[in-house]
Amino acid sequence: MERYRILPDMTVDLDHFETRYEGEMDKKDGKKLLKEHNKTLRDLQEVMFAEHKQKLMVVLQGIDTAGKDGTIEHVFGDVNPQGTKVANFKVPTPRELDHDYLWRVHPHTPGSGEIVIFNRSHYEDVLVVRVHELVPKPVWEKRYDHINAFEKLLADEGTTILKFFLYISKNEQAERFLARIEEPHKRWKFNPGDLEERSHWGKYQHAYEAMLSKTSTPWAPWYIVPSDRKWYRNLVVASVIVEKLQSLDMQPPEELPDIDSYRKQLIEMIGKAAE
Ligand code: AMP
Ligand code: MG
Repeated sequence: MERYRILPDMTVDLDHFETRYEGEMDKKDGKKLLKEHNKTLRDLQEVMFAEHKQKLMVVLQGIDTAGKDGTIEHVFGDVNPQGTKVANFKVPTPRELDHDYLWRVHPHTPGSGEIVIFNRSHYEDVLVVRVHELVPKPVWEKRYDHINAFEKLLADEGTTILKFFLYISKNEQAERFLARIEEPHKRWKFNPGDLEERSHWGKYQHAYEAMLSKTSTPWAPWYIVPSDRKWYRNLVVASVIVEKLQSLDMQPPEELPDIDSYRKQLIEMIGKAAE
Protein backbone atom coordinates (compact mmCIF):
# COMPACT_ATOMS: atom_id res chain seq x y z
CA MET A 1 0.00 0.00 0.00
CA GLU A 2 3.04 2.21 0.34
CA ARG A 3 2.82 2.96 -3.38
CA TYR A 4 -0.12 5.23 -2.64
CA ARG A 5 1.81 7.23 -0.07
CA ILE A 6 2.95 10.72 -1.13
CA LEU A 7 6.56 11.41 -0.22
CA PRO A 8 7.30 14.82 1.30
CA ASP A 9 9.25 16.18 -1.66
CA MET A 10 6.78 15.04 -4.33
CA THR A 11 4.94 17.48 -6.56
CA VAL A 12 1.62 15.84 -7.26
CA ASP A 13 0.06 15.92 -10.72
CA LEU A 14 -3.24 14.08 -10.36
CA ASP A 15 -3.23 13.13 -14.05
CA HIS A 16 -0.51 10.64 -13.13
CA PHE A 17 -2.63 8.86 -10.54
CA GLU A 18 -5.35 6.31 -11.20
CA THR A 19 -8.91 6.73 -9.97
CA ARG A 20 -9.83 3.18 -10.87
CA TYR A 21 -7.87 0.17 -9.69
CA GLU A 22 -7.11 -2.11 -12.66
CA GLY A 23 -4.86 -4.61 -10.88
CA GLU A 24 -5.05 -8.36 -10.53
CA MET A 25 -7.16 -8.68 -7.40
CA ASP A 26 -10.85 -9.26 -7.96
CA LYS A 27 -13.75 -7.88 -5.95
CA LYS A 28 -14.54 -11.14 -4.19
CA ASP A 29 -11.00 -11.59 -2.84
CA GLY A 30 -10.81 -7.90 -1.99
CA LYS A 31 -13.95 -8.07 0.09
CA LYS A 32 -12.74 -11.18 1.88
CA LEU A 33 -9.48 -9.49 2.76
CA LEU A 34 -11.37 -6.43 3.98
CA LYS A 35 -13.40 -8.63 6.34
CA GLU A 36 -10.16 -9.92 7.83
CA HIS A 37 -8.87 -6.38 8.23
CA ASN A 38 -12.16 -5.38 9.90
CA LYS A 39 -11.64 -8.06 12.53
CA THR A 40 -7.98 -7.18 13.04
CA LEU A 41 -8.88 -3.52 13.38
CA ARG A 42 -11.52 -4.37 15.96
CA ASP A 43 -8.93 -6.25 18.05
CA LEU A 44 -6.28 -3.55 17.65
CA GLN A 45 -8.70 -0.85 18.75
CA GLU A 46 -9.62 -2.85 21.83
CA VAL A 47 -5.98 -3.06 22.89
CA MET A 48 -5.53 0.59 22.03
CA PHE A 49 -8.43 1.59 24.27
CA ALA A 50 -7.15 -0.64 27.09
CA GLU A 51 -3.57 0.59 26.80
CA HIS A 52 -4.74 4.23 26.87
CA LYS A 53 -1.59 5.56 25.25
CA GLN A 54 -1.73 5.81 21.46
CA LYS A 55 -3.91 8.33 19.65
CA LEU A 56 -4.93 7.91 16.01
CA MET A 57 -6.26 10.63 13.75
CA VAL A 58 -7.58 9.58 10.35
CA VAL A 59 -8.31 12.37 7.88
CA LEU A 60 -10.66 11.74 4.95
CA GLN A 61 -10.86 14.22 2.11
CA GLY A 62 -12.34 13.97 -1.36
CA ILE A 63 -14.78 15.63 -3.69
CA ASP A 64 -18.55 15.12 -3.14
CA THR A 65 -19.47 11.41 -3.59
CA ALA A 66 -15.80 10.30 -3.32
CA GLY A 67 -16.88 8.00 -0.49
CA LYS A 68 -15.94 9.57 2.82
CA ASP A 69 -19.10 8.31 4.53
CA GLY A 70 -18.88 4.88 2.90
CA THR A 71 -15.27 4.48 3.98
CA ILE A 72 -16.20 5.21 7.57
CA GLU A 73 -19.00 2.65 7.43
CA HIS A 74 -17.05 -0.13 5.74
CA VAL A 75 -13.63 0.31 7.35
CA PHE A 76 -14.75 1.11 10.90
CA GLY A 77 -18.14 -0.60 10.99
CA ASP A 78 -16.92 -3.43 13.24
CA VAL A 79 -14.97 -1.30 15.69
CA ASN A 80 -16.33 -0.76 19.20
CA PRO A 81 -17.88 2.74 19.31
CA GLN A 82 -16.33 3.07 22.76
CA GLY A 83 -13.12 4.92 22.00
CA THR A 84 -13.87 5.69 18.36
CA LYS A 85 -15.36 8.98 17.19
CA VAL A 86 -16.20 10.71 13.95
CA ALA A 87 -15.67 14.45 13.64
CA ASN A 88 -17.63 16.09 10.82
CA PHE A 89 -16.56 19.46 9.51
CA LYS A 90 -19.33 21.46 7.87
CA VAL A 91 -19.61 25.09 6.82
CA PRO A 92 -18.21 27.01 9.81
CA THR A 93 -20.68 28.70 12.14
CA PRO A 94 -20.49 32.48 12.71
CA ARG A 95 -18.79 31.81 16.05
CA GLU A 96 -16.22 29.53 14.41
CA LEU A 97 -15.59 32.16 11.74
CA ASP A 98 -14.80 34.68 14.49
CA HIS A 99 -11.73 32.58 15.32
CA ASP A 100 -8.76 31.23 13.42
CA TYR A 101 -9.63 28.21 11.27
CA LEU A 102 -7.85 25.69 13.51
CA TRP A 103 -9.76 26.80 16.60
CA ARG A 104 -12.66 24.46 15.87
CA VAL A 105 -10.41 21.56 14.95
CA HIS A 106 -8.18 21.11 17.97
CA PRO A 107 -10.91 20.00 20.42
CA HIS A 108 -11.72 17.05 18.12
CA THR A 109 -8.21 15.60 18.02
CA PRO A 110 -7.93 12.16 19.65
CA GLY A 111 -7.06 11.67 23.29
CA SER A 112 -5.13 8.70 24.70
CA GLY A 113 -6.51 5.39 23.49
CA GLU A 114 -8.83 7.04 20.97
CA ILE A 115 -9.37 6.91 17.24
CA VAL A 116 -10.93 9.96 15.64
CA ILE A 117 -11.98 9.92 12.01
CA PHE A 118 -12.11 13.35 10.42
CA ASN A 119 -14.89 13.44 7.84
CA ARG A 120 -13.52 16.55 6.08
CA SER A 121 -11.12 18.56 8.16
CA HIS A 122 -8.95 21.67 8.42
CA TYR A 123 -8.01 20.92 4.80
CA GLU A 124 -11.33 22.48 3.72
CA ASP A 125 -9.61 25.73 4.61
CA VAL A 126 -7.22 25.27 1.65
CA LEU A 127 -9.81 23.55 -0.58
CA VAL A 128 -13.33 25.01 -0.69
CA VAL A 129 -11.94 28.23 0.79
CA ARG A 130 -9.30 28.48 -1.95
CA VAL A 131 -11.64 27.48 -4.80
CA HIS A 132 -14.26 30.06 -3.80
CA GLU A 133 -11.81 32.67 -2.51
CA LEU A 134 -13.64 32.80 0.80
CA VAL A 135 -10.53 34.52 2.12
CA PRO A 136 -7.90 36.32 -0.01
CA LYS A 137 -4.91 34.39 -1.39
CA PRO A 138 -2.34 35.94 0.98
CA VAL A 139 -4.40 34.49 3.83
CA TRP A 140 -5.00 30.93 2.55
CA GLU A 141 -1.53 30.47 1.10
CA LYS A 142 0.02 30.69 4.58
CA ARG A 143 -2.20 27.88 5.82
CA TYR A 144 -0.15 24.99 4.42
CA ASP A 145 2.66 25.94 6.78
CA HIS A 146 0.28 26.38 9.71
CA ILE A 147 -1.26 22.98 9.06
CA ASN A 148 2.10 21.24 8.87
CA ALA A 149 3.13 22.90 12.13
CA PHE A 150 -0.19 22.02 13.80
CA GLU A 151 0.10 18.38 12.77
CA LYS A 152 3.72 18.33 13.91
CA LEU A 153 2.59 19.51 17.32
CA LEU A 154 0.02 16.72 17.48
CA ALA A 155 2.57 14.13 16.32
CA ASP A 156 5.21 15.34 18.80
CA GLU A 157 2.65 14.92 21.56
CA GLY A 158 1.93 11.33 20.55
CA THR A 159 -0.70 11.38 17.81
CA THR A 160 -0.41 9.12 14.79
CA ILE A 161 -1.85 10.86 11.74
CA LEU A 162 -2.95 9.19 8.50
CA LYS A 163 -4.56 11.19 5.71
CA PHE A 164 -6.47 9.76 2.78
CA PHE A 165 -7.44 11.57 -0.39
CA LEU A 166 -10.24 9.57 -1.98
CA TYR A 167 -9.71 10.09 -5.69
CA ILE A 168 -12.54 9.53 -8.17
CA SER A 169 -13.00 10.48 -11.82
CA LYS A 170 -15.39 13.19 -12.96
CA ASN A 171 -17.47 10.59 -14.77
CA GLU A 172 -17.73 8.40 -11.67
CA GLN A 173 -19.01 11.40 -9.73
CA ALA A 174 -21.82 11.93 -12.25
CA GLU A 175 -22.76 8.23 -11.96
CA ARG A 176 -22.88 8.51 -8.19
CA PHE A 177 -25.03 11.65 -8.21
CA LEU A 178 -27.41 9.83 -10.53
CA ALA A 179 -27.46 6.81 -8.20
CA ARG A 180 -28.38 9.12 -5.33
CA ILE A 181 -31.41 10.33 -7.29
CA GLU A 182 -32.40 6.91 -8.62
CA GLU A 183 -32.26 5.06 -5.32
CA PRO A 184 -34.95 6.38 -2.94
CA HIS A 185 -33.00 5.48 0.22
CA LYS A 186 -30.01 7.48 -1.04
CA ARG A 187 -31.95 10.52 -2.20
CA TRP A 188 -31.46 12.42 1.04
CA LYS A 189 -27.78 12.65 0.15
CA PHE A 190 -28.40 14.52 -3.06
CA ASN A 191 -27.79 18.22 -2.71
CA PRO A 192 -28.36 20.32 -5.84
CA GLY A 193 -25.57 22.62 -4.63
CA ASP A 194 -23.15 19.75 -5.23
CA LEU A 195 -23.70 20.15 -8.99
CA GLU A 196 -22.60 23.77 -8.69
CA GLU A 197 -19.44 22.53 -6.95
CA ARG A 198 -18.88 20.04 -9.76
CA SER A 199 -18.62 22.94 -12.21
CA HIS A 200 -15.42 23.94 -10.37
CA TRP A 201 -13.83 20.51 -10.93
CA GLY A 202 -10.60 21.88 -12.44
CA LYS A 203 -10.08 24.37 -9.64
CA TYR A 204 -10.63 21.63 -7.06
CA GLN A 205 -8.07 19.39 -8.78
CA HIS A 206 -5.52 22.20 -8.50
CA ALA A 207 -6.36 22.81 -4.88
CA TYR A 208 -6.01 19.07 -4.11
CA GLU A 209 -2.69 18.93 -5.94
CA ALA A 210 -1.35 21.86 -3.90
CA MET A 211 -2.60 20.28 -0.67
CA LEU A 212 -1.04 16.91 -1.48
CA SER A 213 2.26 18.46 -2.62
CA LYS A 214 2.66 20.78 0.37
CA THR A 215 1.26 18.86 3.32
CA SER A 216 2.40 15.26 3.00
CA THR A 217 4.99 15.18 5.75
CA PRO A 218 6.94 12.41 7.50
CA TRP A 219 4.70 12.91 10.55
CA ALA A 220 1.39 13.12 8.65
CA PRO A 221 1.50 11.44 5.23
CA TRP A 222 -1.16 11.61 2.54
CA TYR A 223 -2.28 8.55 0.62
CA ILE A 224 -4.00 8.97 -2.75
CA VAL A 225 -6.59 6.21 -2.84
CA PRO A 226 -8.00 5.07 -6.21
CA SER A 227 -11.68 5.26 -5.28
CA ASP A 228 -13.80 4.60 -8.36
CA ARG A 229 -14.19 1.03 -7.10
CA LYS A 230 -15.55 1.19 -3.60
CA TRP A 231 -14.28 -2.20 -2.45
CA TYR A 232 -10.73 -1.31 -3.43
CA ARG A 233 -10.94 2.09 -1.74
CA ASN A 234 -12.06 0.44 1.51
CA LEU A 235 -9.33 -2.15 1.24
CA VAL A 236 -6.55 0.42 0.79
CA VAL A 237 -7.67 2.56 3.71
CA ALA A 238 -8.16 -0.45 6.00
CA SER A 239 -4.79 -1.95 5.05
CA VAL A 240 -2.85 1.24 5.73
CA ILE A 241 -4.54 1.72 9.12
CA VAL A 242 -4.10 -1.90 10.21
CA GLU A 243 -0.44 -1.90 9.21
CA LYS A 244 0.22 1.34 11.06
CA LEU A 245 -1.53 0.23 14.25
CA GLN A 246 0.32 -3.10 14.18
CA SER A 247 3.63 -1.24 13.97
CA LEU A 248 2.82 0.60 17.22
CA ASP A 249 3.17 -2.65 19.14
CA MET A 250 0.42 -1.86 21.63
CA GLN A 251 0.07 -3.85 24.84
CA PRO A 252 -2.83 -4.12 27.27
CA PRO A 253 -2.04 -2.86 30.79
CA GLU A 254 0.11 -5.16 32.93
CA GLU A 255 -1.61 -7.83 34.97
CA LEU A 256 -2.12 -7.04 38.66
CA PRO A 257 0.60 -8.71 40.77
CA ASP A 258 -1.92 -10.07 43.31
CA ILE A 259 -4.37 -11.41 40.73
CA ASP A 260 -4.39 -14.85 42.41
CA SER A 261 -5.67 -13.47 45.70
CA TYR A 262 -8.55 -11.75 43.87
CA ARG A 263 -9.29 -15.01 42.08
CA LYS A 264 -9.46 -16.86 45.42
CA GLN A 265 -11.69 -14.20 46.97
CA LEU A 266 -14.10 -14.34 44.04
CA ILE A 267 -14.28 -18.12 44.03
CA GLU A 268 -15.06 -17.98 47.74
CA MET A 269 -17.77 -15.35 47.21
CA ILE A 270 -19.39 -17.46 44.49
CA GLY A 271 -19.20 -20.53 46.74
CA LYS A 272 -20.86 -18.68 49.60
CA ALA A 273 -23.60 -17.35 47.37
CA ALA A 274 -24.38 -20.90 46.25
CA GLU A 275 -24.77 -22.20 49.84
P1 AMP B 1 -21.13 17.42 3.63
O1 AMP B 1 -19.80 16.88 4.03
O2 AMP B 1 -21.60 16.88 2.31
O3 AMP B 1 -22.15 17.33 4.69
O4 AMP B 1 -20.93 18.98 3.33
C1 AMP B 1 -20.28 19.83 4.18
C2 AMP B 1 -20.01 21.12 3.45
O5 AMP B 1 -19.31 22.00 4.32
C3 AMP B 1 -19.15 20.96 2.21
O6 AMP B 1 -19.70 21.62 1.13
C4 AMP B 1 -17.83 21.61 2.62
O7 AMP B 1 -17.14 22.17 1.55
C5 AMP B 1 -18.30 22.65 3.61
N1 AMP B 1 -17.22 23.07 4.49
C6 AMP B 1 -16.53 22.31 5.37
N2 AMP B 1 -15.55 23.03 5.97
C7 AMP B 1 -15.64 24.27 5.45
C8 AMP B 1 -14.89 25.46 5.65
N3 AMP B 1 -13.88 25.51 6.51
N4 AMP B 1 -15.26 26.56 4.96
C9 AMP B 1 -16.30 26.51 4.10
N5 AMP B 1 -17.03 25.42 3.85
C10 AMP B 1 -16.71 24.31 4.52
MG1 MG C 1 -22.29 16.45 0.56
